[in-house]
Amino acid sequence: MNATITYRTGSYYSETDTANHIWEISDEQGIASELYVSISDAEVMQIETREDRRGEGLARQLWDAANAQLGIVYHSLPAHRTPEGEAFASAVGGESVTECHIDSCDCTDIIDDDPYGY
Ligand SMILES: [Zn+2]
Repeated sequence: MNATITYRTGSYYSETDTANHIWEISDEQGIASELYVSISDAEVMQIETREDRRGEGLARQLWDAANAQLGIVYHSLPAHRTPEGEAFASAVGGESVTECHIDSCDCTDIIDDDPYGY
């Protein structure tokens, strides 16, 4: 059964200066699943499904809606994924961004082919 997906744009939680596409599935208890994608880079910023609604494919429905609307959505760099984001990325597949979009981040060191400097 397909849940009803709502779409809006907005900031990432308490931040006021970020612009995201936001797809959400709600139920009587509030947000059941949510997907935040940065407007600037079409990069996944947040994917979260409430514990009692996991295993229903809600996140995948949000992912499909996002891809249908934007054409393509990118997973964040592996170094920036939460465990849930990592599980999500391997479950749904798809492309990942190829560079970090966070200011003053040292993750380029993490993905360096030559991490030990040899
Ligand atoms: Zn980074």
